[in-house]
Amino acid sequence: MAVRVGAAACGSFVSLALLAACAGRAPAPPAAAEPPAAPAARAQGRAATPPFPQAAGEVIGRGERLLIYLPHDGDQLPAIAARFLGDADKHWTIAEANGVPRAEAGQPLIVPLQPLNPTGVRNGELQTVPILCYHRFGAGGAKMVVSPANFAAQLDWLARNDYQVLKLSQVAGFLAGREPLPRRSVVITIDDGYESVYRHAWPLLKKHGFTATLFVYTDFIGAADGLSWAQLQEMAASGVIDIQAHSKTHRNLTDRSAGESDERYRQAIETELRAPRELLEKRLAAAKVKVQQFAYPFGDANDVVLDAMSRQRYQLGVTVQPGGNAFFSQPTLLKRTMIFGDLDLDGFKSKLQISRSVSAP
Ligand SMILES: [Zn+2]
Repeated sequence: MAVRVGAAACGSFVSLALLAACAGRAPAPPAAAEPPAAPAARAQGRAATPPFPQAAGEVIGRGERLLIYLPHDGDQLPAIAARFLGDADKHWTIAEANGVPRAEAGQPLIVPLQPLNPTGVRNGELQTVPILCYHRFGAGGAKMVVSPANFAAQLDWLARNDYQVLKLSQVAGFLAGREPLPRRSVVITIDDGYESVYRHAWPLLKKHGFTATLFVYTDFIGAADGLSWAQLQEMAASGVIDIQAHSKTHRNLTDRSAGESDERYRQAIETELRAPRELLEKRLAAAKVKVQQFAYPFGDANDVVLDAMSRQRYQLGVTVQPGGNAFFSQPTLLKRTMIFGDLDLDGFKSKLQISRSVSAP
């Protein structure tokens, strides 16, 4: 919701803190409560890139949940976010709270110190996060292969339209009802671990300052057209690619082999979840890879798989059922939308479900 500070804001939704500020109560002591300056910008969406001048304006009111800030000439939202929220990448929370794209000198801004709207419900609309699913990149026009030109056009369009491209792990707080996400959030995931990710997708993601979550099945690593451990290590260390698990063998986890007993089946599923987590964390330890998300081969899971997910401490699991994910979505059965090679840009835009009516099923 857009909230403008000024006379109109006094008495509107913004809580006692703002009312106190409007009434001219002395602000709480500054500085001591301020977190340190932002750490280096993470690869998140179009990350705020320092250096920017330090925010030098004044705090004119402060409460527990928010403060009112009077920007000086040259103040930028990332600098304000760095000063008060400890993270320049949270500039979007100030932009969304005020309904403005940038700071203007002398125009007071609300800085939310706690999430104003972690669930993303606004005016009868429910925020949803689309998770996109890619496989291979290259020429040829096959359905599962996206050309580098098309992928570049899709990333260009996301950048031009102010989308924040998140790692899947960044959605966990939203699904727990704790952390708001930018309204235009999208997650890019890539399945299997083809070498073309390294050759085509990674450079394009880097160029845009975007990130992606790569789900690899570990038996494929080092295969003729699969990624090598060295390539995985390099991409993980770059911070651009988050490497997660897509089983060991890529069997359909819901199909039993002929004659497979209950016990053998459960053990096999356990191995499909445990082995890739252990191997990726061991071989990519130098890049501090932590495996907590799983993409089900063919998108399929059942109760046996979901039991193993919780035993193996996976936080999030993704299917291939298309659609956006609201804050109450089941974290281990998230929807995910396939992006095929024959999709044009209009088709791509139609896949980005960032909201739906609260009353929709
Ligand atoms: Zn796959």
